[in-house]
Amino acid sequence: MNPQNPIPFKAETRQLLDILIHSLYTEREVFLRELISNASDAITRLNYEMLTNRDVHQPDQPLGIWIIPNAENHTLTIRDTGIGMNAAELEENLGTIAHSGARAFLQAAAQSGAKPSEMIGQFGVGFYAAFMVAESMRVVSRSYRPSDTPAEWFSSGEDTFTIQPAEKTDRGTEVVIQLKEDAYEFTQEYRLRSIIRRHSDYIPYPIYIGDSQE
Ligand code: ADP
Ligand code: MG
Repeated sequence: MNPQNPIPFKAETRQLLDILIHSLYTEREVFLRELISNASDAITRLNYEMLTNRDVHQPDQPLGIWIIPNAENHTLTIRDTGIGMNAAELEENLGTIAHSGARAFLQAAAQSGAKPSEMIGQFGVGFYAAFMVAESMRVVSRSYRPSDTPAEWFSSGEDTFTIQPAEKTDRGTEVVIQLKEDAYEFTQEYRLRSIIRRHSDYIPYPIYIGDSQE
């Protein structure tokens, strides 16, 4: 783990970022669906782990997803109390699209000749969709494993990302999006609420928006 040494994205990831950023502009709000779906998956995985293992960091912490806009700093944070990731998992999971529906999305788009914007509803395009609205992204995470230390992933969506140690007391993951200037609307609570109603209705865990609990 060396923060002085930026790690390159895998080639396909770069290609995916370009397609997403340039061709899905009118539907870019789906980035939130993707991040909420990841948070939900992370909680499901934690629940599954806890069926057989109570030796997890903060076993009694409430399970949920928090969407926290900050209009002053132009940031949008998506936080969950799911399974979390250590430094190696951040590098593996967020440095390649090997695990992602994005790969299938790219292949299908290439084969069918369809416009990516017409296909986006059929595929999960994953974490990287957030670069449609993000100037940069910071992912701070703490794994459920008591001996794992918290770590941070950072990227401006160019060719590289960095990983470094971080401070985080709570288990789970926090994705902090520094919004692009043309995406400041994504700190408006009514906008976030309507996107969540439209795209994330099926999520089986509580989603809290803003400072107040819903
Ligand atoms: P997919 O969800 O299709 O696997 P993504 O690009 O959305 O692809 O996410 C890549 C991987 O990053 C996930 O499979 C998961 O391992 C990890 N990940 C992303 N977000 C989270 C999160 N909030 N908590 C834990 N792991 C996550
Ligand atoms: Mg996903």
